[in-house]
Amino acid sequence: MLAAAMLAPGSTIGIMGGGQLGRMTALAAARLGYRCHVFADEADSPAAQVCCAATVGEFTDCKALACFASAVDIVTFEFENIPAEAVRRVAGLKPVLPRPEILEIAQDRLREKDFLRSIGVETTAYRKISDPAALARAMGDFSYPAVLKTVRLGYDGKGQVTLTPEIDIDEAWRRMGGEIGILEAFVDFSCEISVIVARGADGAWAAYPPVENRHVDHILDTTIAPARLPHEIATRAQVIARHIAERLDLVGVLAVEMFVTKGGEVLVNEIAPRPHNSGHWTIDACVTSQFEQLVRAVCGLPLGSVEHHSDAVMKNLLGSDVEKWRDALNDPLTKVHLYGKTEIQPGRKMGHLTRLVPHPVRQRAPPFRR
Ligand code: AMP
Repeated sequence: MLAAAMLAPGSTIGIMGGGQLGRMTALAAARLGYRCHVFADEADSPAAQVCCAATVGEFTDCKALACFASAVDIVTFEFENIPAEAVRRVAGLKPVLPRPEILEIAQDRLREKDFLRSIGVETTAYRKISDPAALARAMGDFSYPAVLKTVRLGYDGKGQVTLTPEIDIDEAWRRMGGEIGILEAFVDFSCEISVIVARGADGAWAAYPPVENRHVDHILDTTIAPARLPHEIATRAQVIARHIAERLDLVGVLAVEMFVTKGGEVLVNEIAPRPHNSGHWTIDACVTSQFEQLVRAVCGLPLGSVEHHSDAVMKNLLGSDVEKWRDALNDPLTKVHLYGKTEIQPGRKMGHLTRLVPHPVRQRAPPFRR
């Protein structure tokens, strides 16, 4: 269904997925006077704790999905691996933004890279791999190391194997764990960056500056914002992100993860049509956060400014790191965000810290016009 031109505050935004991204979206929506209703497959999810209403059900439960759709005015999603059928079913009942077709591209690493190449965006070399024999043949054309990833349902390094001459091909295939794989040439990058771009239904767009992402065990550990890059590369990264958002006809926010190679090339690794972990710094350091931009975009409001009034370093609190929250509060320039998760598991995203480096104040804010 097509979205109405503008959804007024007081309306209800449905959020599919109950994680921390949904939680932070709901908090931003509440500040603008919207209600949020979450659909999640677990009770007391991080998002449900801050929403007005929650439907708890499996994503395959058609009745629960219809009930959810009937209670909301518009729907967005916060999690990539929501079954496409569930999103399509809801889209038959209420407007879903970003459009479900975009989610389907991002859910499949092959479709994603094929799409990127089709619109002239550079990626690392890749090939579809259907079985171990095809992998052995492909390794004749790729050099070691190379990266084998599951095409679907991989995240935070899960379903991913780095191939070296010592690793047995059958063993690598088994460890990858997917039905279909994608073999990628290893990128010897100088840094990993991401750009978050917001785009409204009227085509207006705003891209945050690129940020630098450091991973530990394939999970995002630290984001340095903005990235320390030559101006030309930073601008190129923003232009690429905008181009992708436009060609997807995105309404919402899109995160574009990229590698900057030692030779200064910018290669896109993957896209996520939702707020992103590397954009959490925008809550505390920017005029408008990535979450507020999503709310503005899907509700048909004008986008806000992406200007940042502070530089920032965001550190994820993974697993038992969450216990650092008390110490962190002793630093007045550190903002503490906890996601309300009770069960600590190694590598689980429990919260994050944003340490701010405020820019010097150059001018006073102008008064509101009467
Ligand atoms: P992904 O699940 O594709 O985001 O991969 C997780 C992390 O693995 C990335 O952030 C990189 O650090 C690393 N990685 C993924 N693909 C490649 C590649 N082709 N070359 C080098 N490193 C990669």
